Parts: sequence; structure tokens; C-alpha cells
Amino acid sequence: MKDENCLFCKIAAKKINAAIIFEDAHSIGFLDITPRAPGHTLVIPKYHAEALPSLPDAEISHLFEAVKSVDALLTGKLEPDGMTIGINQGPASGQEVAHLHVHLMPRWHSDKGGPIQSVVHNGSGEDFEKIVKKLIG
Ligand code: AMP
Ligand code: ZN
Repeated sequence: MKDENCLFCKIAAKKINAAIIFEDAHSIGFLDITPRAPGHTLVIPKYHAEALPSLPDAEISHLFEAVKSVDALLTGKLEPDGMTIGINQGPASGQEVAHLHVHLMPRWHSDKGGPIQSVVHNGSGEDFEKIVKKLIG
């Protein structure tokens, strides 16, 4: 499934240039055009899904197999100290391109970045028990 107006569908279809560093039948990985780290890569399903909930179950494992392969490629070639792997889902989280993409950002001890938890500071509101009740009560 493709969306004619989608930037990342166009990259997957090679209608727009990108530095593609990985491709298999289901996914591609290409360098982020505004990298936050050397080798900052986006891995996307070729299937157009805005976000994880609309990606068919059958595509999920393919996507994460691609993430694993790109992780190995970046780690093998760039020798970072670690990797931050994450998805911005929905505008509130910072998602700007409405085609599911997984960010892989190689990390170095010296890069002055933080852990993935440091992107939000909203942890002191509703108490823990209330959240548990809402979720499974
Ligand atoms: P997000 O905020 O998770 O939606 O991230 C979208 C990412 O796509 C940003 O980091 C952009 O730098 C990146 N991006 C936008 N256009 C392109 C493009 N043509 N090629 C590669 N990366 C892009
Ligand atoms: Zn798309």
C-alpha cells in the first residue's frame, strides 16, 4: 500500500533521492536529512502506515528485522558506544512525517545526549496506583 502524497513513500519508490543504506523486500533504511548524530538513520516499512497501530501485524516483524540489520550495519561500520532507537508517534510526540519511521541514532559517551526518557518531563502528575487501575483495573 502506498500513498502518492507521502514523502517517505516517494523515497521508498525512489521518486525522491535519499541516502539509502539498507533495503529488503519490506523495508528501507536511509540517512536522516538533518542528522542528530553521525549515521542517524530512519527505517521505514514500504507499506504506508502513519504509525504503529495501522501497520498490519504481518509487517511488524519485518520492520524490526530491518531495524536489527541497520543497527548491525551502523554499529559495525561506525563503532559507536551505543544506539538510541525510537519512534515519534503522533504530533504531540514530535512526529512530523506521517509515515511510520524508526530513528536509529548512534551514540557516543562524549555526545552530550541523554537517554530516551529525557524527551519528556511529565512524570509527577497522576499517581502510580491510579494509572495501574486505568490500565488493568
Ligand atoms: P519525525 O519528527 O519523527 O517525524 O522525524 C522526521 C524525520 O525525517 C526528521 O528527523 C527529518 O530530518 C527527516 N526527514 C525529513 N525529510 C527527509 C528526507 N527527504 N530525507 C531524509 N530524512 C528526512
Ligand atoms: Zn507513506
